[in-house]
Amino acid sequence: MSGIETVQEVNMFFDEAASFLRLNEGDRAVLKRPWTELKVSLPIKMDSGDIKVFTGYRVQHNDSRGPYKGGVRFHPDADMDEIGALASLMTWKTALVDIPFGGAKGGIQCIPKELSTTELNRLTRRYTNHISYILGVNRDIPAPDLGTNSQVMAWMMDAYSQIHGYTPGIVTGKPVSLGGSVGRDSATGRGVTYVMNQVADNLEMNTQNTSVVIQGAGQVGLWIAQIAFESGYQIKGISDVNGGIYSSSGLNITDLKEYLTSNESIIGFPDSETITNQELLELECDFLIPAAIDRVINDSNAEMIKAKVIIEGANHPITPEADSVLNAKGVKIIPDILANSGGVIVSYFEWTQNLYQHQWPEERVTQELRRIILDGYKAVEKLAISEDISYRKAAYIIGVNKVVEASALRGFFNR
Ligand code: NAD
Repeated sequence: MSGIETVQEVNMFFDEAASFLRLNEGDRAVLKRPWTELKVSLPIKMDSGDIKVFTGYRVQHNDSRGPYKGGVRFHPDADMDEIGALASLMTWKTALVDIPFGGAKGGIQCIPKELSTTELNRLTRRYTNHISYILGVNRDIPAPDLGTNSQVMAWMMDAYSQIHGYTPGIVTGKPVSLGGSVGRDSATGRGVTYVMNQVADNLEMNTQNTSVVIQGAGQVGLWIAQIAFESGYQIKGISDVNGGIYSSSGLNITDLKEYLTSNESIIGFPDSETITNQELLELECDFLIPAAIDRVINDSNAEMIKAKVIIEGANHPITPEADSVLNAKGVKIIPDILANSGGVIVSYFEWTQNLYQHQWPEERVTQELRRIILDGYKAVEKLAISEDISYRKAAYIIGVNKVVEASALRGFFNR
């Protein structure tokens, strides 16, 4: 799959906000185009002794409001277009929740589960070395994303530190023993659950009777499942790349996590029914949380979605066509740039802690995360209600406007 659709679609959401803000074509071009696009070839010696060349990317979209910030994904669909679109989402996201970063994204086109640990280590180091001249604690700070984790961040931090001296603040999402923040691993999922609790409160839903379906059982999806399960929500279904599992009476997520310590996939979990990812997305539920990959809700399945509320844990899981269909059906959608901002919020805390060589207790991390994400939620809700627009449009308007203000002050526009 090519990322060209993702760029066009993300820019459609941007253009809606730009029209509301009456931005001219020149300003739009400044804000849409990434400022740096780097593509690197990464030759790696495989365990077999063969040499294989992978392709890596780092796109720096906009740093008007602070250093570039964004994850690195290891995925077969990663290409310059997809990475560029996701970098722009980071720009609007950091602005929306008002943390002092710009937007970036990186990736390597690969299938991580087909690589051994030593191959992944070599690939990550080669990538870091090749892009290191555009990184920096005040320039560009990567983080984990799809297919990467705290171990990959530890390798990146080490590779960068070998050239520049001990630099924990060069990446976030590191292991705590290397300067990572407590609460970073759960932060994206926890942020999603704070937003879900707020929506449930507004809709007067009682968590005990509220059903949740989650696509993705990785870093984001599994934490959402665990925290929601512990809060009393009924987790009716969850999936991974191999398919989904379903239980009408709710899955026990503590047992599922235990099951995953000795099984690679959720498929086969006792007392659950196996379903496809497509069937999972179409389940009847209160909250549907896509937390895996892009564009999974599109014109082929939007009409079949039965959820009352969709919270976007993943980046760009809903195409604009599907967004229109769902809005017309009255499905409430909490957009990615708000819903999954918990990860970058706690990355900001981690970076701050690294700059001061200081560690915050977990209570402070979760309290400040909750405050910042709910402030973002309330600002979006207020604008959506006063202008009678979708939460997505409101979120983009707030995010884009903050970048416009900073860009104008810095002289990037011809004004
Ligand atoms: P991950 O690699 O830890 O987990 C991804 C999950 O999705 C896995 O369970 C995988 O099996 C599943 N998956 C992969 N391909 C799939 C497919 N074709 N169909 C269904 N399921 C599939 O990744 P993650 O870090 O949890 O990221 C998930 C999403 O959340 C991505 O869109 C990412 O950009 C977004 N996100 C992540 C963070 C973060 O802190 N990790 C922050 C913000 C947004």
